[in-house]
Amino acid sequence: MLDFLKKGLQKTFANFSELKKGKEKISKDLLEEMLLEADVSYEIIEEILYYLPPSDEVKKEDLLRVMKAYFIYDTPKASEEKPFIQLVLGVNGAGKTTSIAKLANFYKQNNQNVILGACDTFRAGAIEQLKLWAKKLELDIVASAQGHDPSAVAYDAISKALAKKYDRVILDTAGRLQNQKNLASELEKIVRICAKAMPNAPHQKILVLDGTQGNAGILQARAFNELVKLDGVIITKLDGTAKGGALFSIAKELELPILYIGVGEGVEDLLEFSVDEYLQALLEGIFE
Ligand code: GDP
Repeated sequence: MLDFLKKGLQKTFANFSELKKGKEKISKDLLEEMLLEADVSYEIIEEILYYLPPSDEVKKEDLLRVMKAYFIYDTPKASEEKPFIQLVLGVNGAGKTTSIAKLANFYKQNNQNVILGACDTFRAGAIEQLKLWAKKLELDIVASAQGHDPSAVAYDAISKALAKKYDRVILDTAGRLQNQKNLASELEKIVRICAKAMPNAPHQKILVLDGTQGNAGILQARAFNELVKLDGVIITKLDGTAKGGALFSIAKELELPILYIGVGEGVEDLLEFSVDEYLQALLEGIFE
């Protein structure tokens, strides 16, 4: 798992190696440069440097202790509720459909029955794309035609899951509509109808964020968090960016747990996020 994560952070580490060339120790100035390159926000870097011991040489164990303080939003405990309903949100292109496929595949490999709900009825392409994944991964899916009510799809998917005793329902949603107001009312309605189909549903509202946007993704996440109260985020495309340090600001500013990270386009390229592993990988990148 750690090696897989390190591979995903390769671009971030390549910058570290470049900066470290010819230097024997990690000084505070060098650390500052590395973290800036990795898109850790300036404010957080200043804090990290402030909380390190006064010596100019940075020690791995000190840095680990200081960095850990930024990831206090723990991954929620696995729910006992069956079916477990996850509503997945995010702007177009963030990697939402791919992440849904990866998640469904991950659960399926853990012997859980998954059904997908194609609630992005705004784009015909979105329905088709999800259907393709469902076919490829041999998953059940509830879908209707473009322009149909997405809440009805959510209701049908949950009803089917209840009747046929599925373990999980993953619902796709539209990333954009004609305007923000329409999107807000559509998402609000989907959440309301989910609760009608099953009390407490959706159990998790997850935002998919494009990791290549680094810190810029935070504004987007805030907007979604205002529309529906989010429970966690998935950060995608960490393999395609040197901004592997943006996770600090995402965790700190959003006060939300990072649930999974995407490290490639393949269906297996999804990792359950672990703070310890992420920091271990990052520190190895910095010190080794
Ligand atoms: P959506 O519009 O949010 O549903 O986005 P898609 O799931 O269609 O993904 C948009 C593009 O990003 C596709 O080309 C995906 O293959 C790619 N993508 C998604 N996740 C990852 C990832 O973790 N790493 C990389 N390298 N590409 C990804």
